[in-house]
Amino acid sequence: DRIISGELQESDSMEELSLRPQRLKQYIGQHKAKENLAIFIEAAKMRNEPLDHVLLYGPPGLGKTTMAQIIANEMGVQFKSTSGPAIERSGDLAAILSSLEVGDVLFIDEIHRLPRAVEEILYPAMEDFCLDIVIGSGPSARSVQIDLPPFTLVGATTRAGLLTAPLRDRFGVLSRLEFYEVIDLCAIVERTAEIFNTSIHKDAALEIARRSRGTPRIANRLLKRVRDISQVKGEERIAIETTQQALKMLQVDNAGLDQIDHKLLLAMIEGFQGGPVGLDTIAASIGEESQTIEDVYEPFLLQQGFIQRTPRGRVVTPKAYMHFQMEVPKT
Ligand code: ADP
Repeated sequence: DRIISGELQESDSMEELSLRPQRLKQYIGQHKAKENLAIFIEAAKMRNEPLDHVLLYGPPGLGKTTMAQIIANEMGVQFKSTSGPAIERSGDLAAILSSLEVGDVLFIDEIHRLPRAVEEILYPAMEDFCLDIVIGSGPSARSVQIDLPPFTLVGATTRAGLLTAPLRDRFGVLSRLEFYEVIDLCAIVERTAEIFNTSIHKDAALEIARRSRGTPRIANRLLKRVRDISQVKGEERIAIETTQQALKMLQVDNAGLDQIDHKLLLAMIEGFQGGPVGLDTIAASIGEESQTIEDVYEPFLLQQGFIQRTPRGRVVTPKAYMHFQMEVPKT
């Protein structure tokens, strides 16, 4: 597994639960999303109504699931969780919906992966809190409507653009999570260290933050690996030298790029004179899937300005050449 992938990996899952902040106040960073949600939550509570449906979108590992749980905690309601690919038939979703109680938060991760037939069950459920189901088949089939308690759907997706318009339109609150600032990630590293009962120097925490691709999940994962090495060395407090040494071993460079990023950028520079080159061509040349490049590798490279999207394809920027200490070609 790629250490700097924002996606959940098996080795993360046990600890992640204990690392999740429980309240909005403990949720570090994402000031804009937090402020907005705080107002909506407050208003819903004042009206004594469930919160409007919320769509959280942004790259993996930025805290969408965490935020969904916090919404339930702040509203003082139950949290039920499932995911798009886990719901195969309409009946599965109908069963989940009919088990909800007033105000509950139903979290659907990767909501863009819901099968279309299942998605259609959601429309009346979200809009009118009712379930339209067909019983039987053929001439004896009839449709029945069942009332649902008012609830809040929190959907999460890595790409809001993949959602169908009818689904997207039924969310009252759309909240985009951004890559984190280094100081926020540093605070997350320090918080995690405290939960782990580990002591870390400020400059070491900053170093991890800088190389975490704006992603809390990666920051926590790097901290765990650095801590292991620090412990083996018998350090009392994680030092900057150990951190740098560990990150070097993990092949995460000073900009948070790993071997796959290097491969991708160098393929564009060496094989295509820096572009423009189409996504599918890049994918074929490094043996990765276009979708993976677009969802997993590219967002951070774009956000950091190592590559740019143009109508004719992706281009490598001067920043990328400089990162590899290569001469920037004249245009
Ligand atoms: P997503 O659902 O977007 O993939 P998660 O909510 O599962 O991301 O977050 C991944 C991990 O990162 C969580 O276990 C949590 O410990 C940590 N995390 C995410 N956001 C924050 C935050 N704002 N403050 C502190 N920790 C966070």
